[in-house]
Amino acid sequence: MAKLFRAAIMGPPGSGKGTISERIAQSFGLQYLSSGHFLRESISANTEAGVQVKTYVEKGMLVPDHVMTRLMMPRLEKLSGQSWLLDGFPRTLVQAQSLNSLYQLDLVISLNIPYETLKDRLSDRWIHPGSGRVYNMGFNPPRVQGKDDITGEPLIQHDDDKPEALMARLRHYKDVAKPVIDLYKSQGILHSFSGTETDRIWPYINSLLSTKMHAQPLDNHQSQAP
Ligand code: AMP
Repeated sequence: MAKLFRAAIMGPPGSGKGTISERIAQSFGLQYLSSGHFLRESISANTEAGVQVKTYVEKGMLVPDHVMTRLMMPRLEKLSGQSWLLDGFPRTLVQAQSLNSLYQLDLVISLNIPYETLKDRLSDRWIHPGSGRVYNMGFNPPRVQGKDDITGEPLIQHDDDKPEALMARLRHYKDVAKPVIDLYKSQGILHSFSGTETDRIWPYINSLLSTKMHAQPLDNHQSQAP
């Protein structure tokens, strides 16, 4: 059996980490766990955790660390024996330390995207509040302007995606992410990628993962002696 491979991806809102994560999961067969996805799922299902986190997520505020850890750890436990990629967790040093006490990551990808690019992407983002469906006026517009394709209901723009809120949001991301990035740097597992286009960054990430995953030693598997 091949050795388990455990990775995480970090990046500010609008950095394309969801898209890159899906490509990684598909190309390398990793289980993909997105903290934002789990949060939205708990909110729609109206679970106890969902009720607890709703206001934070709606306001784009960080959900408290102990709630996040309680949400993520059981899901990781269920994946024992499988390789995975975490998207959106850990976001804070406390979360990274909790994760570290149970699992040693093999690789962390950090996306550095210029502010202007993030601003353009996020200011084009509109949401259908009922379902969470996201549209981008640039490359994925709704069929009828301002209306959800499925329900025809009006789309809204999150206050925190509006240009005036964005600078503060990105600054906050950087402040919180810095100690996490420093931790992974000190462990020698951090790889940073910069660029304005996901399609241009992807080949570098693809080649890094190919190298790292193939370099993993094999478990329970003796090399074949003649
Ligand atoms: P995302 O889809 O990763 O952008 O996450 C959407 C929202 O979920 C964020 O704006 C936060 O409110 C919340 N969230 C997601 N992951 C975390 C985390 N690891 N710690 C705290 N809050 C989180």
